[in-house]
Amino acid sequence: MTTAVVVGSGPNGLAAALTLAAEGISVRVIEAADELGGGVRSAELTLPGVVHDECSGFHPLARGSQFANRFDLEGAGLVWRFAPAEFAHPLAGATGAVAERSVRRTAAGLGDGGARWSRLFGPLVRAFDGISAEFTQPMLHLPQHPLAMARFGALSGLPATVLARLLRSPEAAALYAGVAAHAFRPLTSIASSAIGVALTTAAHAYGWPVAEGGSAAIRDAILLRCSEHDVAFETGRTVTSFADVGDADIVMLDTSPRAAVAIMGDRLPARVRRAYTSYRHGPGVCKVDFAVEGGVPWAYDGARRAGTVHLGGTVPEMVAAERDTARGRMPDKPFVLVGQQYLADPSRSVGNVHPIYAYAHVPAGYPGDAANALIARIEEFAPGFRARIRGQAVRSAIGMSEHNANYVGGDIVTGANDPVQLIFRPRFTTDPYATGAPGVYLSSAATPPGAGAHGMCGYNAAVAAIRDLAR
Ligand SMILES: Cc1cc2nc3c(=O)[nH]c(=O)nc-3n(C[C@H](O)[C@H](O)[C@H](O)COP(=O)(O)OP(=O)(O)OC[C@H]3O[C@@H](n4cnc5c(N)ncnc54)[C@H](O)[C@@H]3O)c2cc1C
Repeated sequence: MTTAVVVGSGPNGLAAALTLAAEGISVRVIEAADELGGGVRSAELTLPGVVHDECSGFHPLARGSQFANRFDLEGAGLVWRFAPAEFAHPLAGATGAVAERSVRRTAAGLGDGGARWSRLFGPLVRAFDGISAEFTQPMLHLPQHPLAMARFGALSGLPATVLARLLRSPEAAALYAGVAAHAFRPLTSIASSAIGVALTTAAHAYGWPVAEGGSAAIRDAILLRCSEHDVAFETGRTVTSFADVGDADIVMLDTSPRAAVAIMGDRLPARVRRAYTSYRHGPGVCKVDFAVEGGVPWAYDGARRAGTVHLGGTVPEMVAAERDTARGRMPDKPFVLVGQQYLADPSRSVGNVHPIYAYAHVPAGYPGDAANALIARIEEFAPGFRARIRGQAVRSAIGMSEHNANYVGGDIVTGANDPVQLIFRPRFTTDPYATGAPGVYLSSAATPPGAGAHGMCGYNAAVAAIRDLAR
C-alpha cells in the first residue's frame, strides 16, 4: 500500500492528507502543537465561553473552493455565517465607508467614487468564479478565462495607491486601501493591489463568511472527512529532520521553506535549498483578543454592521504605516484589523460579552506588546472602547512564531507578497509543490495560491503527488 506522511496539520496539511487518503493512500499526519488545525483553531482566550479565532477568521476563498466542494465540507457540518456587511473603514468623526455584498449598495455610499467602484469591480464580480478558479492554481498555466484574467491582472499589477486614486472619493479610496493592506506590502509598490482586488471582488461575489462555532469548525469538517479514510494523527511532535518522518512513499511538508531546508538537509538539491533559504518573509502582527461588554462603540454606524473593520485612517496615513512596518520601524499609529465574528455567529458570545479579534501590523520579529497602540487606534474611532474591555489576551509577533513555526517573525501570510513571490512562490519553477527530492512536496501557504484557510495549496500539492505516482 502506498504510504504518506504529512508534516503539519494546518488547513493545507489537512487538505493534502484528505486528498491523498481519498486515493486509497495510507496517511500519517505529524503535528508539533498539542492540537490539530494550525491556522484554523478557536479557543476561549479571554473569558470562559467566549470563543475567539486564534488565526484565520474570515474565509472568502474557502467557501466554494475546489477543495471544499470536492469533499463537501458543508455536508460534513461546516456552516458559513455572514455579518450584515462585509468590511468597513471608519474615517474621522462618524464618517467612513462600508462594503456590502451588493456592488450597487456599496457604490451608493461612496459619493463621487461610487460609479468608479461599480465600473472597476462589477465586471470582476460577475466573472469571479472563473477568476478564482485560475488564481487558486499555480500561476503559470494556460488561462481558461483569458479576458477576465487580463482585466483582473491589469488591476492587480497596480500600486494600491494608484488604484485608490482611480476611485476618486476619499471614502472609496480608503475603503479599498484598507483591503489592499492585507498584502502586508508598501501600498506604493508594484502589484500591491493584487490581494486587495481579489479580496474586494470576493467580498461582493461570495462574502467574507465566518465558520459557525469558530474557525476550528473548518478543521473539524476536514477531520470528519478524514475519518472516512485511512488517516492517523500524532500531535505534540516537531519534525526536525528527515529521520523523524520515517519511511513513506510521499512526504508533504506543510511548513515554511526554511523549515523544509532544516528537515530535508542534503536530500534537497542545492538549487532548491538556495531558493528556499532566500525565500522572503514579510512584516508581522501583534494579535490582541478582547472580551468586550456590549461590543465596540463605533462612531461610524457602518462599522457596527461589518464583520471586519479596517483601522488605517486616510490613504496617506496607511501608506506611512505600511511603509514603516516594511522598513522595520514600529509606527505610532499602526494599521489595525478588527474582527467582529460574533455579528455573524452570536454563538461565540456569552450574553452581552462579545469576542473581538484584532491585530496590528508590526515589523518582522517585533518583540514588543503593541496592545496599547492597538487599543488607542480603536479608541480613536470608537471612544469608550477601553472601558468596555472585560478580558484581553496578547500574542506578539514573536509569540505568533512560537505558536506556529510557519509564521516566521510573526508573518501570518507565510511569505512576502512581493511581485516575484506573488507569481513564483516558493521558487522560480513550473512545479511549485515539488522540492526536487523524489516524493517530497511543499504544501503550505508558501506555495500557490498563498495564504488563506482555503486548503488549496495542500490540495494542489496532493494532486501533483498523485500525478507523479502515476508516472
Ligand atoms: C492572526 C491571523 C489572522 C488570519 N486571518 C485570516 C483570515 O481571516 N482568512 C484567511 O483565509 N486566512 C487568515 N490567516 C492566514 C491563514 O491562517 C493561513 O494562511 C493558513 O492557516 C495557512 O495554512 P497552512 O496549512 O499552510 O499552515 P498553518 O495553518 O500555518 O499550519 C502549519 C502547521 O504546521 C505545524 N508545523 C510547522 N512546522 C512543523 C514541524 N516541523 N513539525 C510538525 N509540525 C509543524 C504548525 O504547528 C501548524 O500547525 C490568518 C492567520 C493569522 C495568524
